[in-house]
Amino acid sequence: MSNTDSSYINEDLIAQTLATAAKPDSALINDVLSKAAELKGLESSEIAVLMNISDPDQLSQLFETARKAKDEIYGNRLVVFAPLYISNLCANECLYCAFRASNTEIKRRALNQEEIAAETKSLIDQGHKRLLLVAGESYPKEGLDYIFKSIETVYSVKSEHGEIRRVNVNLAPLTLDEFKALKKTNIGTYQIFQETYHRETYAKVHLRGKKRDYDWRVSSLDRAMQAGIDDLGIGVLFGLADWRFEILALMQHIKHLEDTFGVGPHTVSVPRLEPACGSDIASQPPFPVSDVDFRKIVAILRLAVPYTGIIMSTRETADIRRETFALGVSQISAGSKTNPGGYAEGEDKFDAAQFSLGDHRPLDEVIRDVASLGYVPSFCTGCYRLGRTGQDFMDLAKPGEIKKHCGPNALSTFMEYLRDYASEPTKVIGQQLIDKTLETMEPEPKRRSEILLDQVKNGGSDAYC
Ligand code: SAM
Ligand code: SF4
Repeated sequence: MSNTDSSYINEDLIAQTLATAAKPDSALINDVLSKAAELKGLESSEIAVLMNISDPDQLSQLFETARKAKDEIYGNRLVVFAPLYISNLCANECLYCAFRASNTEIKRRALNQEEIAAETKSLIDQGHKRLLLVAGESYPKEGLDYIFKSIETVYSVKSEHGEIRRVNVNLAPLTLDEFKALKKTNIGTYQIFQETYHRETYAKVHLRGKKRDYDWRVSSLDRAMQAGIDDLGIGVLFGLADWRFEILALMQHIKHLEDTFGVGPHTVSVPRLEPACGSDIASQPPFPVSDVDFRKIVAILRLAVPYTGIIMSTRETADIRRETFALGVSQISAGSKTNPGGYAEGEDKFDAAQFSLGDHRPLDEVIRDVASLGYVPSFCTGCYRLGRTGQDFMDLAKPGEIKKHCGPNALSTFMEYLRDYASEPTKVIGQQLIDKTLETMEPEPKRRSEILLDQVKNGGSDAYC
């Protein structure tokens, strides 16, 4: 297999699968949901059955099965992070993105290291511990070293109560050697979205630059794995092509990674196209995804790849985000800005941002809301720092062992957030949730949680197991 072979994305097979699952009956849907409840994942033909559900009762059954799966694997925790946009310079021409090269309607900016440190400090002072570093595909004169220096800068910043403990990145595809260099910077997840797996659409929306090369992009996760980066994030930009096609292609990509490397991606992201400055297609997606279909996407992914995290960004409104937490989302961004410099300078500038946001609430408000819904916001970075990634993570996740770490770590890092950053109303709601969660925990995770919580109560920080 050549380095950029992508023959595993088989459009004919997808078309065939979609055609044969056109009219599923309720007996078949019940069979598929029973299998899904075993948390062993689903085949493409089974996924296609669930995608065609439209009857309200069957839809409720699908959502209920996903809710149980989410609860079984992840319990009531929700990992929280913020994106850090360091540069909006870009040489590509992606029709949906405000950063595309020919767009003269935005102000261009690549933050220098002092500015990146100021952004980082601002995020730490809100209470964040995890960042996703994001940049367009054109770096200032240092080239890729700019990214490496920026990661180093983020990790070097200390503020009154803390530091960033995990930097994930969303960057354009790299060569094998560049991935090897990236690995040395101590990143958490390398994340990249294929945008659309539909080749014809891909060619239509990526007009210029390196990103035109579909195969180079789809094969980037293979090169990352070969370079030893086994914590990967994958995704589709929904709205460009039929979402049913995209889900089945995404599954082919995941299967390829599992077959080749023994382990699939750690997370799947589900961005929907949002309006972007200077982009018509972003405001009028060729294949808009309705809110009901969007909830179906989250529920189906939860059942299709039960042990893969699902990330929900602030592209979505607070209401949609709330609904999808129950259906399978395990990570959320909060308090986000997509314009470089937006945190320290306190501005939401549409004329420098990548796209418009659906949820503008500050972190404290999101945390209070999430906690009042019964979810424990987690700032945990334990797995990555203990080397529990790739196969090691899956070995723990599949028999349900990971919950024994996630539950206690979520409580201790949430308690740390409440102590160091939360407003009074958030502290009250948060403490009630911690007490209630402890009451319902099994004896062993409860014992671990109490040890970690005591460490935080006694002034400790960064307590995890
Ligand atoms: N430039 C790199 C790339 O394209 O892979 C990395 C960063 S890019 C800023 C991150 C992601 O933002 C893209 O992969 C795309 O899915 C998403 N994005 C771009 N325009 C968007 C829009 N109008 N609405 C929602 N998401 C968008
Ligand atoms: Fe550039 Fe990425 Fe935006 Fe495309 S999506 S224009 S590559 S920043």
